[in-house]
Amino acid sequence: MPFGVKRPIYLDHCATTPVDERVFEAMRPYFTEVFGNAASSSHAFGQEAAAAVLRARNQVAALLGVEQDARTGAREIVFTSGATEANNLAIKGAAAASTGKGKHLITQVTEHKAVLETCQYLRDHQGYELTVLPVDRQGRVRPGDVKDAIRPDTVLVSLMWANNETGTLLPIREVGAICREHGVLLHTDATQAVGKVLIDLAADPVDLLSLSAHKFYGPKGVGALFVRRRDPHVRLVPQFHGGGHERGFRSGTLNVPGIVGLGVAADICREHLSDETARTASLRDRLEQTIQQAGGVAINGDPAGRLPNVCNLSFAGIRGDKLVAALDDVALSTGSACNSAGVEASHVLRAMGIDAQLAAQSIRLSVGRSTTIEQVDYVADKIVQVVTDLREQQTSYAVACTA
Ligand SMILES: *Cc1c(COP(=O)(O)O)cnc(C)c1O
Repeated sequence: MPFGVKRPIYLDHCATTPVDERVFEAMRPYFTEVFGNAASSSHAFGQEAAAAVLRARNQVAALLGVEQDARTGAREIVFTSGATEANNLAIKGAAAASTGKGKHLITQVTEHKAVLETCQYLRDHQGYELTVLPVDRQGRVRPGDVKDAIRPDTVLVSLMWANNETGTLLPIREVGAICREHGVLLHTDATQAVGKVLIDLAADPVDLLSLSAHKFYGPKGVGALFVRRRDPHVRLVPQFHGGGHERGFRSGTLNVPGIVGLGVAADICREHLSDETARTASLRDRLEQTIQQAGGVAINGDPAGRLPNVCNLSFAGIRGDKLVAALDDVALSTGSACNSAGVEASHVLRAMGIDAQLAAQSIRLSVGRSTTIEQVDYVADKIVQVVTDLREQQTSYAVACTA
């Protein structure tokens, strides 16, 4: 086992990422010197803050292929506190604006809780009907299922661009074309996709898109919702009322330092997108190939259409909690969560038809901007060794939460 690799090693970039130093430096003045309220247009303090927000709005737009505006900043970008809020605004806002058409929503079983629970809230408390589409073994929704689920009273389809546990990608053009054809809005939670795959909303048939800065080297607590203004002009009922900020979509004093950080983080991702995609994919593939030497390793997700930086692996015959305990110098995520009721296997893996036991025996490794070959090799070698040792030791594979 190589020495000299600094530990613990962070391979959990799907959970969050560190703020890039360049992002941090760009944000710094906006806490103390340029502290104005971006809505205070009558003086220089406010004007300077507003100019920074305008720049950030265009930087986010550039990353997404959205029309910029030198005078106002991109009009289709609404700043929020993150992807959870963006998802809530998109789904509740679009649903409330479309009651004249109907009250039927479509989503899929592998969505993040911020989408699933928002849809379930509308079903359980606001009288909406909800269709939750299944996925196949690779975690893919079938476009034909989307088409079949659309009804005359369907107002919104919400399907994530990339899954946060497996990296499985949505066939966005195909699904978008179906929604367009039927005149139904398409929202996508692109929190994991932004900065990792090419997004071009000038061509991609998406009407609403959520993102979060902390998943691509920006700060936590800031994100955005893209709201299409032309073909179609998307209407949303605001969920926060107050001063009418963000064109009335989202009242509340803007988080200027956070928004500046989001903008710079977007800029860096745009500039390095293709290099970083290739670099992280090669690290991820190297990690995966070495780990597979342990034998009995299944890759969960769509090998032909996955994010470049994630791998989700199941280890036959290895208890997930034992594996994680032995990998105490590696930061990763597991396909199970211990709660008061015991072990709950990931709803995403379960929905893909992976049995509860194997789902609980899975781990997610996600590489990022600062991940090195040395780190990947250390982790891969260690996993092979731990899995081999555990297979020798273990006599019982029962899944349980151990203290
Ligand atoms: C992280 C994540 C969220 C939540 O984002 P926050 O900005 O932390 O609220 C939503 N959806 C997906 C797919 C995510 O990965």
